[in-house]
Amino acid sequence: MRRRAFVRSGVIASAGVLSGCRTALERTNTASPRRVDLTPVDVSFDRIIRTTVGLRPYRESGFVVRGESLGDKLLIHNYGHGGAGMSLSWGTAHLAADIAVTRTERRAAVIGCGVAGLTTARVLQRRGFDVTIYAKALPPDTTSNMSWAAFTPMSGLISFDRRTQEWDAQFQKAVQIAYRELQLLAGRGLGVSWVSEYSPTDNVVAVGAGGALEAGRGESERTVPLLPASVTVGRSVLQPGEHPFATRYARRRPSLRFDPTIYLDTLMRDVLLFGGRIVVRTFAIPADLLALEEPVIVNCTGLGAHQLFGDTELVPIKGQLVVLVPQPEIDYIVGGMLPRTDGIVLGHTMERNVWTLDVNESERTRVVDQAIRLFGSMQRFSGAGEVAAVPDATPAVESFFDRES
Ligand SMILES: Cc1cc2nc3c(=O)[nH]c(=O)nc-3n(C[C@H](O)[C@H](O)[C@H](O)COP(=O)(O)OP(=O)(O)OC[C@H]3O[C@@H](n4cnc5c(N)ncnc54)[C@H](O)[C@@H]3O)c2cc1C
Repeated sequence: MRRRAFVRSGVIASAGVLSGCRTALERTNTASPRRVDLTPVDVSFDRIIRTTVGLRPYRESGFVVRGESLGDKLLIHNYGHGGAGMSLSWGTAHLAADIAVTRTERRAAVIGCGVAGLTTARVLQRRGFDVTIYAKALPPDTTSNMSWAAFTPMSGLISFDRRTQEWDAQFQKAVQIAYRELQLLAGRGLGVSWVSEYSPTDNVVAVGAGGALEAGRGESERTVPLLPASVTVGRSVLQPGEHPFATRYARRRPSLRFDPTIYLDTLMRDVLLFGGRIVVRTFAIPADLLALEEPVIVNCTGLGAHQLFGDTELVPIKGQLVVLVPQPEIDYIVGGMLPRTDGIVLGHTMERNVWTLDVNESERTRVVDQAIRLFGSMQRFSGAGEVAAVPDATPAVESFFDRES
C-alpha cells in the first residue's frame, strides 16, 4: 500500500520536473504491474573486502568424459569444464558413473576435490561404490571455490566450431541432469538458490511465446542450438518503464546461484556421511595412480590434467572476482554482479592462457568502475517521492547471458 502511493507520487513529481525529457518520462510514467524496483548495489573501492583469482580449465573441444585402461584399472576422465563446471558437474558425474558401472568392482578412487570430483564421488556412492577422494588441495583452496558462481552451462566451455555430434549429445544429457539435480538442492540452505538475473539491453530482436530471443548470440548457436529449451524456461523482456536500468529493455530470467563455500562444504560432508574418505595426495604422473588399490579411477583434476595427463589442449582462462561487503537486501544478478552470503561478487574477467594467480589491478579497477556506472545509473525513488535524475549516457553493460561466468 505504502509502496504504491510512493510510486504514484513519484510519477506526478516527475511529470513536472522532467517534462521534455522523453526517455525519463517513458521510464517513470508507467503503472505496469510488471514494474520491477531494485535496490542498487553500494559500489565503491573502499567496500572491497577481497579480490580472488581462479583459472578456468578450458578446452577448445569442450570437456572430456571418456574411459580408458590404465594397467588393469579403468581410468575415467571427467575434466575441462571451462567456466561451466559449477553448472554442469552433476551431469558429467552421471556420464562418468555410467562408464564406471561397466566394471563389476564397486570401489572407486576419485582424483580431485573440486566440484567435479565431489559430485562424481556422490553419484558413484549412490550407485553403490565405496569411494575415496584423493586430492592435492581441498575446499576452500580449489578453483571451484573461486567461481562467481551461477548456472552458466555454456560459459567458456567450447569453441563452437569444434562441436561434434557426440560432444553435443554428452553436453545436452549432462546439462539436463545437472539442472534437475540442482533444483532439488535449491533453497535448502545447501548453497544453491534461485535468483532473478537481469540483462539490460537496447537490442531485443524478438520476443517469443516462452520468453525472448536476444541479439548478440553466436551464429553457430543460433543455427544449431546447443542449450535444450527445458533449461531456458521463464525468460521475459521488460519494456521501458518496467525496469530501473538506463537501457530501453531488460531481459529477465530465473537463474540458479551458488554460494561456493557452503555448497562445496555440503558436498564434502555428504561424501563423508555416506562412508567416503578424503585423502590429501598429489600425483605427478599417471603411473602414480597404479599404486592405488581401487580398480576404478576417475580423473577430476580440472586444470591439473594439463600436467598430470599431458593434455596440452587444456589451458587456463584466468578469472578474477572483486568482492564487496555483503548487502543482504540485494537479491538479483545484473551485469556481472552476483550477490552471495559471503559478499557482493563482481566479475567478470577472462584472460586466456594466463597461468598466474596474481591480481590484475587494471582489470580490478575496470570492473569496479563499470559497476559504479551501472548502479549509479539505475532509476530509483527518493524518500520524498521524487524520481532521481537519469543520466544521459547509457552505460555499456556487457551481456553475459548464457555464455559467461
Ligand atoms: C572467476 C571464475 C568464475 C567462474 N564462474 C562460474 C560460474 O558462474 N558458473 C560455473 O558453472 N562455473 C564457473 N566457473 C568455472 C568453475 O569454477 C570450474 O569449471 C570448476 O571449478 C572446475 O571444477 P573442477 O572440479 O574440475 O576443478 P577444481 O575445482 O580445480 O578441482 C580440481 C581438483 O583436482 C586436484 N588436483 C589437480 N591436480 C592434481 C594432482 N596432480 N594430484 C592430485 N590432485 C590434483 C585439485 O587439488 C582439486 O582438488 C568459474 C571459474 C572462475 C575462475
